[in-house]
Amino acid sequence: MHTPPGRLSTLPVAALLLLLASCSVAANPSEPPAASAPEETQEVIPAEEAATCFGILKQGGLIICPAEPGSLVEFGGIQMIARETGTAQYGLSRTMPAEIEVRYGGTSARLAIEPREDEFRVVPGFDCDRIDARTPAQKAHAADSWAKKQAGFGSFNSGRGALDGFVLPSDAPPSSPFGPTRKYVGVSKTSGKACESISVHQGFDLATPVGTPVRAPAAGIVTLADPDLYYEGGTIFLDHGHGLLSVFMHLSEVDVAAGASVARGDLIARTGNTGRSTGPHLHWAVKWRNPDTENRDGDYYIDPALLLELPTAD
Ligand SMILES: [Zn+2]
Repeated sequence: MHTPPGRLSTLPVAALLLLLASCSVAANPSEPPAASAPEETQEVIPAEEAATCFGILKQGGLIICPAEPGSLVEFGGIQMIARETGTAQYGLSRTMPAEIEVRYGGTSARLAIEPREDEFRVVPGFDCDRIDARTPAQKAHAADSWAKKQAGFGSFNSGRGALDGFVLPSDAPPSSPFGPTRKYVGVSKTSGKACESISVHQGFDLATPVGTPVRAPAAGIVTLADPDLYYEGGTIFLDHGHGLLSVFMHLSEVDVAAGASVARGDLIARTGNTGRSTGPHLHWAVKWRNPDTENRDGDYYIDPALLLELPTAD
C-alpha cells in the first residue's frame, strides 16, 4: 500500500529545494562560498549556517532535513535516504547525546540537542507475584496481540511524516507526559524475595471520558486496527510515512480498518478504558522507525507533545 509518488504535491518539494539552494552556502557546490576565509571551506560548518534543517532539537524531538529525493542524509552516523517529500526525517531518542552531526548535500553541521529532565520515581508496593496472562486463553490472546503489533511495527508506507505538523488527537487535557521512569519495587509473598520492575512512559496520555472522539493527528495509512489486544485493548497504528507511527490504545471503539488512508482530523476511534488500563484515557505514542533498515531493534518512541510544536501546514 505504497502511495504512488505522483500523489504527492510537488510544490513543497520545490519550495524546500529552493530553501536549500538559497539558505545554505555549502549545499550548492557549483557556487563559491560567499566568504573566502579558509575555515569556512572546512567540512564542518556552524549550525546556524545549516539553516535548512529544522524541527524540534530536543531529546524526544525530530529533525527534518530538506534533501534531493534519493540522496543520502546522515544523522549521527545513521544513514537515511531522502524520500519523495524532498526530506529525510530523523527522530531524536529520549536519551541521545547532547549533540548530533548531520551530513547532507555535501555539507555537515553539528546541532545542539536540548536535554530532557524527565522525572524518576520509585513506587513501592509492587505485586511481585502478579502474572498478567495466566490462563491458556489469556496467554494465547497476549501472544496473538504481540504478533499483530510486531507486524504493524514492521509495516512501512510513504507519506509526509511530520512535514505538515501534528494536532492533538483528542480535545482533552494531558494527564501523563512522555518520558518519566517509574521503578516499582516489592517483595514476593510466595518466595519472600524482593523484586522490581522499571518502566518508562512511552506515550502522552490525555484525560478523556469514554467515548471521546479520536482524530488523526496527521495524515496516514492505518496499519493495525484491532478492538481487543490483550494489554492495549482497542488499538490503532497510523503510519504517517518517513517511519513515523502513531499508536492509540485503550479505545472503546475502532472506526477505521487496516489499509484505510486518513487525512488529518478524520475521526478514527473513540477513547475508552479497554485492555490493561487503569482508568479512562487516551494513550497516544509515536514511534520513530528507521525506514532504511530491516532491523527493528533500533526503533524507539519519541515525544508526541514535541511534535505538536512543529508548524502545521493548514
Ligand atoms: Zn499512557
